[in-house]
Order: sequence, then structure tokens, then C-alpha cells
Amino acid sequence: MKPRSDGLTEHVSRKGPQASDLLAWYDQHARTLPWRIAPADSQRGIRQDPYKVWLSEIMLQQTTVAAVLPYFQNFTARWPTVSDLALASDDDVRAAWAGLGYYRRAANLHACAKVIADQGGRFPQTAAALKDLPGIGDYTSAAIASIAFCEPVAVVDGNVERVVTRLFRLDTVLPKVKREVTDKVRAMVPDDRPGDFAQATMDLGATICTPKTPACALCPWNESCAAHHAGDMEAYPVKAPKKAKPRRQGAALVVVRSDGAVWCEQRPPTGLLPGMTQVPTSEWSADAPKPYKDAEQLGSVEHVFTHFALSLQVYRRDSDKPPTSQGWWSTPERVREEAWPTVMVKVLKAVIPEIASSIRPKKR
Ligand code: SF4
Repeated sequence: MKPRSDGLTEHVSRKGPQASDLLAWYDQHARTLPWRIAPADSQRGIRQDPYKVWLSEIMLQQTTVAAVLPYFQNFTARWPTVSDLALASDDDVRAAWAGLGYYRRAANLHACAKVIADQGGRFPQTAAALKDLPGIGDYTSAAIASIAFCEPVAVVDGNVERVVTRLFRLDTVLPKVKREVTDKVRAMVPDDRPGDFAQATMDLGATICTPKTPACALCPWNESCAAHHAGDMEAYPVKAPKKAKPRRQGAALVVVRSDGAVWCEQRPPTGLLPGMTQVPTSEWSADAPKPYKDAEQLGSVEHVFTHFALSLQVYRRDSDKPPTSQGWWSTPERVREEAWPTVMVKVLKAVIPEIASSIRPKKR
């Protein structure tokens, strides 16, 4: 036990969290996922397919396992190897990706497949070399190197950050704490089973050490977890207080043709909501927008993005004339298939609720 400056006493087990305890838990409780092999197979020296590890990790960025499963099955059925994916057309890859959001990731995925196919279909085997490929950053390179090639590197995603900041009660705020977390993980990674250790920490964060009410009684590391002993698990990771976001304003015009079709545009391929569908809209700025002519104003919608809050005045115009030169009419049957971001779904619901009520936003 060691005294803390805040007067609390830290009941940290002297031995600290052991990789072997976590791996014993993982051997019993590993999630069964189509891109994984069972822990018993991994211990027999069978390695995971780097193509499947890479594909799943790219798909899992910013979304859930449940959302990814059908996409993963479809991609691997259509394109069983990275070289098959490299030969696919851009349109086919984009269409197969539709609904997973972040279309730039699909473009990077395809570009990466082409680079690897040019290298004989073999993935580089170290995190450092993997990081040179399109769309592969620190986390994904470490995950592939560790899981597919047994490189003993630290693999740190949001789940692992949560587990480790709690284990050691690291009170540096996010995202600065990531360096300390990475050092702690690196010190724990076992040389013989680095990939299983990485997947075990991810599983622990996803299933036991959850953001709210973690199930510490079931956790293989509860003996040595500082936050569990202090009873303040949910205080970690420490987040910086939220700053008020700047406000922007704009206007959006929903043009409805006499057969109910809606005029759509595609957003630019880079910047905010890249490549997604929108209705015509003004600039989004600090200044009040000009009203649309020959259109009825139907109120406004509010939406909060990562860096600003937006207030959009919403207009409806009934017309068979395209309001802009670049765009397309989407019929009431097709309109729900478009790649609408959440803000545009709010706009549509304010203007054509009878059609928009069944539209689900795609991920940004
Ligand atoms: S004991 Fe609780 S807080 Fe600590 S790592 Fe396990 S689940 Fe998370």
C-alpha cells in the first residue's frame, strides 16, 4: 500500500497486473469473431490471416463489431485475398462499403490492397513497415504486426486506454495519457503471445471493463487494479472539461419534384462529411445565411459536430427544375439508400417527414 497525495491509500497488489492472468481469462472467454483464430490454435503456432486482421481493423474504426460483421463476411466472400480486392473496381468497393461511412477509408483500403498486391500479395511484417501503407496508422499497424506476425508491440485503442488508466489510476487527461498507457502496455506484452495479449486487452475493455459500471468481479486483473480498489473506476480515463463549441449558421434547401423525388448533391471528397449526400446548402459560417427565394421556411435544425455547433434554417421548394448544376433526383423509393449524414436526416425529417422517417443516417 502506498499513500497518495490526496490522502487515499492505494491498495495495489505488489505484483501488478500479470499478462498470464489476462491470457488465462482470454483462453476461456475470447470472443469468437470471423477474422480471428481460437486461442488454442494460436498457441499451436497457427497465425491469423493478415488480410482478415487488416480488413477487420479498418472496418472497426469508429464503429461496432455488430455493424462490421455483415460487411466483413461480404468482402471476404467476394474478395478472398488482398490481391482479389486489389483487382476490384473502385465502384464495386465503394458500393460494398456503403453504410460503413467514412468513404475515404474505403478509398484508402483499396489503395492499400493495390500496393500489397504489387508486392506479391504479402503484407509487411512489422508495425514500422506497415505504417507506410495507405490508411494504416499507429494503432492499425501495431494491431496487424502483433496479431498476424507476433511482433511484441503495444496495441492501444480506446478500450485498452480505459483498462490501463484504471489499472494504474493514470490521471493525465486524454489524449495526453496515451503515451503513459503505451509504455505500461509495452512493459506487459509477453514475447510468446503478443497477438493474444492484444486481443485479450481489447476484449476485456469491450466486455468487462466497460465505460459505465465495469464488471470488476469478473475481471482477471481486479486484484491488482488501483481504480477497482479505490472504487473510482468510472473516473478513468480522465477527460478534459468540454469547451463551448463555436456556433455556425446556414440554410438548407429541400427541393421536391412533383413525383416526390428530392434533389441531392454529393459533398466534396475531402473535408467535413466527405463524399456524403446533402441537399443544397449555403456556406456554414458565423454569419446569418441569406434566405432561399421561392421557398418556404420551415424552421431550423440544430446539430453538433466535433468542432462546432450548427444551426441550419430549413427551406422547402416544390419544383421540377434542378436548383443546382451538379446533382441528381432521388425518388422516394431510392432516397433512403443515399449516404445521408445525421445532420441531413434532421433536415429531411423537418421538411418531408413522410419520406424521411425511415431514413437512417450513415456514419460520418
Ligand atoms: S478491475 Fe474493474 S476497473 Fe480494473 S481493469 Fe478490471 S474491470 Fe476494469
